[in-house]
Amino acid sequence: MDSDAAETPKSQRGGSAIYFDGVSSRRRTVTLRLSDRLDIDEDGQTLAAWDYSDIRRADSPAGVLRLSCLTASALARLEVRDTALAAELVARCARMDDNAPGRRGVAAIVGWSLAAAASIVAVVLFGLPLIADRLTPLVPEAFERRLGDVADSQVKTIFDAKVCDNPAGQKAFVKLVTALRESAGLDTSVQSGVLSSPVPNAFALPGGKVYLFNGLLAKAENADEIAGVLAHELGHLKHRDSMRGLIHNGGTSFLIGLLFGDITGSSALIFGSRTLVTSSHSREAETNADSFAIEIMHRLGRPAKSTGELLLRVTGKEGKGLSIISTHPLSEDRLARMSRQDPPASGPPLLSAEEWRSLKSICETKI
Ligand SMILES: [Zn+2]
Repeated sequence: MDSDAAETPKSQRGGSAIYFDGVSSRRRTVTLRLSDRLDIDEDGQTLAAWDYSDIRRADSPAGVLRLSCLTASALARLEVRDTALAAELVARCARMDDNAPGRRGVAAIVGWSLAAAASIVAVVLFGLPLIADRLTPLVPEAFERRLGDVADSQVKTIFDAKVCDNPAGQKAFVKLVTALRESAGLDTSVQSGVLSSPVPNAFALPGGKVYLFNGLLAKAENADEIAGVLAHELGHLKHRDSMRGLIHNGGTSFLIGLLFGDITGSSALIFGSRTLVTSSHSREAETNADSFAIEIMHRLGRPAKSTGELLLRVTGKEGKGLSIISTHPLSEDRLARMSRQDPPASGPPLLSAEEWRSLKSICETKI
């Protein structure tokens, strides 16, 4: 008889179940104790106690009773597979199938999942470049900056590089960047530096960061060559190409991360910063950045073709290698473009011979 059941030797009702606390994703094997409330124990310790009247049924596959609790974390779940135990719980939880407010939470999650699915479908149908173009202006600057900080440390890790800070070299570098930045109409939030990597490259990161690798500096023969490269990167920065590239290259996983706010430490971003440095921007973005660089150099009364010559020297005619990027237009074409209507130098040198020598040795640590 049911009324006597509580008095039988099996009076300590309960059994084992799986518990998710709703905070971590850890799956715990717990023991349930059915007293005047439901105690959830692990290794003799009570993790939680749920009142029967607060317990609700959650969606679950057949053969599993999945429960949530109004007073627990919204995502806390209990999974019961033991049919006898499940039946006992159903009997005790009178309001298990009430249409609880918790359902709205489920609806919101379903809604977001649909939005994520819809955006993936949109990406497949309309292509990533368009989505990236649409999304980029919507990304708040503060968010982009935070993203840039994460990308920044990842780039340094990937290339095992640090920022070179030999004082004389740093002074010359700041002078060069400041002249370019002011000519480009960019504010002082631009951050830049030389990284101690032998890779001949330069790149811009989201959030206003421009980096030059020492490997490219080593191959340069004068300040104009490097100035044009930096101006090119400032062009990417001004057009927020890195943010666009990150969305483009990070692809759907990045979009999902964006939707769910799981950015830091997501694999999408690691992938993103790797591609930022190797091959990120579209041909169009590259051509625009080159035009920008040519304009800046001319505004400063300096030749643009020096940079074209540096690129050709680094990449060879075909523009092979990691170098200042394989997706860039062929170096030969770039040089031709930079040489076109290139007036003779009319402005003062951007750096003195002394400053140029200091810049070249910015990564040398001996004082
Ligand atoms: Zn570029």
